[in-house]
Amino acid sequence: MLRLNNSVVSKDAGSIKFPVIRGDKTRSSYKVDKSLLEKNQLTDEEWESICLKCAKCCYEKIDLGGGHIVYTEEPCVYLDTATRMCKIYDKRQEIEPDCIKLNADFIRQINWMPPDCAYVKYLSQKDTLQAVRAIEKSKRRKRVKLRRD
Ligand code: SF4
Repeated sequence: MLRLNNSVVSKDAGSIKFPVIRGDKTRSSYKVDKSLLEKNQLTDEEWESICLKCAKCCYEKIDLGGGHIVYTEEPCVYLDTATRMCKIYDKRQEIEPDCIKLNADFIRQINWMPPDCAYVKYLSQKDTLQAVRAIEKSKRRKRVKLRRD
């Protein structure tokens, strides 16, 4: 359990406003766990462990189009802004149908997750790693073919 500083401030990041927790760096700097990157399939616990519980995704967002998302300072009514925890986490889809259970495919399709969200970083590194592996595999195949010819 992380201990939190309750003071919540806002920080400008260009046109995007992210609420941040003062002094709690653990919730804004995700270091990708290499063992999770290597796995093809994560368990629910492993997937959940990636989330930093920063709650940046739990604030109202406005889609201005053209890839411009404004993060407002209006929290979801179910967010405890002091602890940054959802008050109804286990039943959130039942109680609030607009709340979306995040999974890898969904996050890859949307553009409104905060860029420093741990899942966004994890998936970006995972996709890069897979692309690099695919290139290496293709090169190996070509080398083998060249030797045979
Ligand atoms: S899903 Fe991402 S933005 Fe939302 S709380 Fe977890 S780490 Fe933060």
